Amino acid sequence: CGIIGILGKYDVAADLVDSLKRLEYRGYDSAGVATLHNGVLERRRAAGKLRNLENVLREQPLPGASGIGHTRWATHGKPTEDNAHPHATERVALVHNGIIENFRELRAELANEGVRFESETDTEVVVRLVSRELERGHDPVRAVANVLPRLRGAFALGFLFAGQDDLMIGARHGAPLALGFGDGEMFLGSDALALAPFTDDLLYLDEGDYAVITRAGAEVRDAAGFHVERQRQRLVPGA
Ligand code: GLU
Repeated sequence: CGIIGILGKYDVAADLVDSLKRLEYRGYDSAGVATLHNGVLERRRAAGKLRNLENVLREQPLPGASGIGHTRWATHGKPTEDNAHPHATERVALVHNGIIENFRELRAELANEGVRFESETDTEVVVRLVSRELERGHDPVRAVANVLPRLRGAFALGFLFAGQDDLMIGARHGAPLALGFGDGEMFLGSDALALAPFTDDLLYLDEGDYAVITRAGAEVRDAAGFHVERQRQRLVPGA
């Protein structure tokens, strides 16, 4: 129900959780974060309140300067730890707001190829499809671009990739998603509130856009894959 992503300068797990607290007002039933540590994706997730996730992180800290986080409001699958986001394979991790309406047919297609699912969510088909594209040798941007046109529904997505410490991809299709520009840092979030602790220099993705984000900035493309310029705006704090 809430998404945050950070390409930062130091360990980001605490900042991810702080930002998720600012998204609590939307309601949620579970939460999780994933970071890249020495190029490897690692996750911590917990059912229930963010305090539970904080306790898990205290027991098992999550180092890494690149990360994504999520508060979930379950639509498909019970509010358990296994169904909590981020969903991930060894290659890619994903946070998702909204619903993938055609997940059943996509899941059946993947299951036919022998793909095993670890959750009951609609979200997991997306991470498995992107992972399959990566396995086929596509780079992360192509992998996501190949999968987006296959998804039906209203959603916002945030991806993080193994071995790619300076890359996030965000996609908007029927659910808002904003980019935040920092000084050598970049942010991705469901709304300005989530990004307010980090930056007031924002860019809202337009419907159908996806963004390739590095610490140096972001390149936005429309649904057809063409580069587009979107207006950056200053958020007035407190407004
Ligand atoms: N449909 C997804 C799920 O149930 C995401 C729900 C959300 O927006 O939090 O896991």
